[in-house]
Amino acid sequence: MTLKSLELFGFKSFGKKSPLSFSTPITCVVGPNGSGKSNIVEAIRFVLGEQSMKSLRGKGGIDLIFKGSKSLSSSNRAGVVITFDNSNKIFSFTNSGIGVSLDYDEVTIGREVFADGGNKYSINGTEVRLKDIVDLLASVNIGSSGHHIISQGEADRVLNASNKDRRSMIEDALGLKIYQYRIKESERKLDKTILNMKEVQVLRREIAPHLSFLKKQVEKVEKAREMREELRNFYKTYFSSEYTYIINEGNRLINIRKELDEKALSLDKSIGDLERNKNTNFVESENTKLIKDKEDILSVVLNKKGDLSRSLGRIEGIIEGIQRQFAKIPEIKEYVILESDWRLLVEELDRKIDEAMSLEDFPSVVNILRNIKIKLNEFKNGVNTDDIEKPSLEDNEEYKEMIASKENILNEISKTKEEERSIVNLINSLKEKEKESELILRDNERTLYELLRIRNEVTSSLHTLNFEEERLSQIKNSFEMELAEGGVLIGREVIDFAHTKVEGDIIRSTQEDLRRKIERIKIKLEDGGGGNSGEIMKEYDDTLDRDKFLAHELEDLYKSIESLRLLIQELKETLDKEFKSGVENINKQFQEFFALMFGGGSAFLSITMEHKKPKKNDESVSIEDNESEEEEEENNDLGFERGIEINVTLPQKKVKDLHMLSGGERSLTSIALLFAVSQVNPPPFLVLDETDAALDEANSRKYGNMLENLSKYSQLIVVTHNRETMSRAQVLYGVTMSAEGASKLLSIRLEDASAYAK
Ligand code: ATP
Repeated sequence: MTLKSLELFGFKSFGKKSPLSFSTPITCVVGPNGSGKSNIVEAIRFVLGEQSMKSLRGKGGIDLIFKGSKSLSSSNRAGVVITFDNSNKIFSFTNSGIGVSLDYDEVTIGREVFADGGNKYSINGTEVRLKDIVDLLASVNIGSSGHHIISQGEADRVLNASNKDRRSMIEDALGLKIYQYRIKESERKLDKTILNMKEVQVLRREIAPHLSFLKKQVEKVEKAREMREELRNFYKTYFSSEYTYIINEGNRLINIRKELDEKALSLDKSIGDLERNKNTNFVESENTKLIKDKEDILSVVLNKKGDLSRSLGRIEGIIEGIQRQFAKIPEIKEYVILESDWRLLVEELDRKIDEAMSLEDFPSVVNILRNIKIKLNEFKNGVNTDDIEKPSLEDNEEYKEMIASKENILNEISKTKEEERSIVNLINSLKEKEKESELILRDNERTLYELLRIRNEVTSSLHTLNFEEERLSQIKNSFEMELAEGGVLIGREVIDFAHTKVEGDIIRSTQEDLRRKIERIKIKLEDGGGGNSGEIMKEYDDTLDRDKFLAHELEDLYKSIESLRLLIQELKETLDKEFKSGVENINKQFQEFFALMFGGGSAFLSITMEHKKPKKNDESVSIEDNESEEEEEENNDLGFERGIEINVTLPQKKVKDLHMLSGGERSLTSIALLFAVSQVNPPPFLVLDETDAALDEANSRKYGNMLENLSKYSQLIVVTHNRETMSRAQVLYGVTMSAEGASKLLSIRLEDASAYAK
């Protein structure tokens, strides 16, 4: 047995806890009208997850809760617990991991509804969702369509149903709902996957312009990197050459300065010496002074010589006068001198002697002259020629003195001449010397001018050197600035370049060319827009990774769409195949049961293809809208849907239209179909609520036989007033409305049941 027990508490008319146990193949529930039998059937529907309030004969959850009676108070909730046997572990979840263990010999499903309409579901005491219960029941072929529970008055429900609903019932009864669920689930997955794919496509489309923008940026960055590499190479040559140039040029200028400074110092010393020498020659020209002095002395000597010559002339004149006097007077007369002449002479002599005497340098001359004067004075004082014998000239004192004076003067003149010669010689020698001196001076001057000229050249060279040093200093400054800039552009390695000497001469024009190239690259780099290349590269890589990831996702999604489509296709094919073969099998049984019930005739199901009808709103009120499990139709692309048509031919009757059957015929046909279906795919249990109500005695017996036959495959819970039916049960449950105003259960055993039935 699969169904073990049922327990109702506060459910509809069952105000008190009411347990039912189902331990036999056929259990009948019997009792007077309105005692609560159908409420038991509804309790089974309810606990198995029924959502249609219409099927539970209510408008809302509150209608399911015991409302109370005169002597019993109302319940605050309605609850039902159903227990199945699970000793052979037939229960399972398709949906694993809900945290409920099924590793027990029993499986208990519970449901409670509260006054506010809220529901609570449980499996083995653990609260679960409705879908978990549906999932669990599907594993034991108890579908949600409730085809295995035939409520009161619903015996011919299958006949009244539309082809489409019938198909659904048949599918459920054949246990094919699982395919429908899987198809539905796969289609949901497919829709979701398609949606995901669209989202991914949108994301990719959104990324695309940014990615392409970033790609361009990255290309710019790459270009800039290439330019920087080029710049690096230029810098390497430029900085090392510039460094070498600065060092070499600096050393060269230092050497030049040293050389020029030394030269200037030496020139200044030589020039100073020469200038001092020149001044010395000029200021201290003793020679010239000496010459002047000597010339002064010479002038005195010449004057003296003139004076002496003149004195000599006078004395010679006197001597000649004396001689002439002596010659005029023979003997004596010749000695007489005319007094007038004599006087003239004496006066002249006197004057001359005075003049000679004024010369102090010649004391001897003065002495002589003084003597002459004395003698002359004696002559002046009067000579008496009468007393005088004719004097001899040689004895004439005067004459002798004159001769002596003449001799003296001649000596003096001779000495003076000697002195004059000596002085003239000295002057000449001095002048010669002076001439030589002047020559030397002129030579020195020439040297001085030459040195000054060279000194000027040195000064000019020093100016040029200053200029060159200034120029080098500017080059150094520029170099430092360029170095700092280079550091920013390509990093610290420029410092290494800047301290590497290169061989050979550095040509400035080549450096200038390099500098221009460097400037051009710098401008290009600036034009390219700096930006943070690291960030751009990272963002590009990230975005590219993301795009690749999305592309990969898309590929995966395409694959899953493909495989889902394939799966759906396969499921549909399997469903189709199983459905067709199931219908075929049902038809065999249907024909048999039908012929048995009607004593002939024929009945079969046919599969129809109809245009899809617009979906009707379900009139029933759903207890839980959010978890309602609406049946999905199997649609094909052409807008067709499959249905099931019932075809019957009653024996000896031409009536084929189901609507034209009598109530009993309808019941019999439904029962035949229900049993046929149950035979093909036996449900674990079947609940039949007064399905036999319309049967006559003969048919009730056939019905009873069929029940017995069916109970070999499925457990049967049968609500009935039919005694024939009751007689087939092993246990009867009697339901009565107690004096308290609530349904009450009474269990009657097999033997008693048979007796009760009779
Ligand atoms: P019959 O043989 O005529 O079909 P039955 O035994 O199947 O009758 P039920 O339909 O199961 O009877 O029970 C109906 C009874 O249950 C009614 O009397 C009704 O008043 C009672 N009932 C239904 N809902 C509630 C409720 N919520 N609280 C109390 N009683 C209720």
